[in-house]
Amino acid sequence: MTSTPLHYAVIGAGPMGLAAADRLAQAGHRVTVVEADDRLGGMSAAFDFDGLRLERYYHFICKTDYPLFETLREFGLSDRLKWTDTELGFYYNGQWYDWGKPLALLRFPHLSLADKVKFSLHVLRTKAVTDWTELDKLQATDWIRNAIGERAYKVLWERLFELKFFEHMHNMSAAWIGTRIKRVALSRKSLLQEQMGYLQGGSQVLLDAYEQRLQAKGAQIKLSAPVRRVLTENGRVTGLDLGRETLAADRVLSTVPLRYVPRLAPDLRLDERQRIESIDNIPVACVLLKLRKPATKYFWMNVNDPRIEVPGFIEYSNLNPLPEKIVYVPYYMPKTHPKWAWDDERLLDEATGYLLLTQPHLKREDIIARHVSRYEYAQPLCPPGFYDKLPAMKTSLEGFFMADTSYYYPEDRSINESIRVGWDLAAAAQKDPRGGA
Ligand SMILES: Cc1cc2nc3c(=O)[nH]c(=O)nc-3n(C[C@H](O)[C@H](O)[C@H](O)COP(=O)(O)OP(=O)(O)OC[C@H]3O[C@@H](n4cnc5c(N)ncnc54)[C@H](O)[C@@H]3O)c2cc1C
Repeated sequence: MTSTPLHYAVIGAGPMGLAAADRLAQAGHRVTVVEADDRLGGMSAAFDFDGLRLERYYHFICKTDYPLFETLREFGLSDRLKWTDTELGFYYNGQWYDWGKPLALLRFPHLSLADKVKFSLHVLRTKAVTDWTELDKLQATDWIRNAIGERAYKVLWERLFELKFFEHMHNMSAAWIGTRIKRVALSRKSLLQEQMGYLQGGSQVLLDAYEQRLQAKGAQIKLSAPVRRVLTENGRVTGLDLGRETLAADRVLSTVPLRYVPRLAPDLRLDERQRIESIDNIPVACVLLKLRKPATKYFWMNVNDPRIEVPGFIEYSNLNPLPEKIVYVPYYMPKTHPKWAWDDERLLDEATGYLLLTQPHLKREDIIARHVSRYEYAQPLCPPGFYDKLPAMKTSLEGFFMADTSYYYPEDRSINESIRVGWDLAAAAQKDPRGGA
């Protein structure tokens, strides 16, 4: 260790908070992680789903998730990383089609050969992009429409944008969707076969490893301890107000959704708070269904059918062979959407109806357990020019640093990105000469 040991408080025990805390503890600092929830993990946390330990949200791993692979290696957990030959399906106007393979694309009857060529070239070109600054300036739906044509855009993309971003659908950056196309396109074992990864035992395996290593390094983890306020004196961080107690700290790293930060740290400069408040998110209400038998052979299913108001289904047990069959049905929606106010039962009934409509071999009795997981800050909205919108990790308050899932940009959400950004956040905080002990 090169710098003077300090006491770092890390707010949030999702993968980002844990990755940052781990780096700081490894560097010899005193670390306290403070988490509002009663468990580790944030969006990657698991719960007891009617006797099955399952993640609140599905998690797949791609072949380019290098910081995650490095972390698994360090923990001696590489053998827990498993790869599955995954099948993709596309439900288009009442019928299922295989998807994700050259032959499936050729056989798909609702696009011309010219559309299919343009679509394939667009994926190939996007796979080769390494500098996203030009695409950062473009609007995603325009970029795709220009590349693949109006018809292919309407069949393959429009409904996905509509049902994920609603009124924001024409204000997303092309770089954001481009990195997503590239990440998935590179996760193949050959041109003909997509492969996605999962952790045997779920993300919990990684969370447990972090917890054990942090404890071994003397770090403290406080659960069910929501931070009320970042305490400061003369523009410099002094600790955290946890309601029942005050935690003194030299430096504070926040990994909670950025929109919470102005409330937690009201002493931030006005322009910083305004910058943060201009970054929006889409909440998710994610329905989980446990089935008596498989619904499909597909892991990932996109849907474009006017009767179905979700962008797709994820049959997670076709990625991770669990003892029971699991389907996730994500409802992304702004809080202003009437369905956000629906109670869980109503959402569950609608999602069940959608699954049964697309899978007539299933009966209502085949669904043996149901659950809804909700997260308000599930998907950052990254409009064109997002690089310039993001506030710096190092804030105007001495000793206070922040990041959240929007700092993945232009990458999309993943545990892998949380680890990478967690490392960057820890490095930024350690590099800062100000606010030291
Ligand atoms: C529907 C869905 C699908 C996904 N699919 C995938 C996938 O296929 N593959 C993949 O790799 N990733 C996926 N992800 C993303 C992945 O789960 C996240 O990127 C990752 O878990 C984010 O971790 P984080 O630590 O950055 O943030 P978070 O998980 O948001 O953690 C922030 C933590 O801060 C805590 N907190 C908030 N306020 C306070 C407070 N006042 N005091 C103390 N603590 C506080 C929260 O409780 C939370 O634990 C998906 C996410 C969702 C929602």
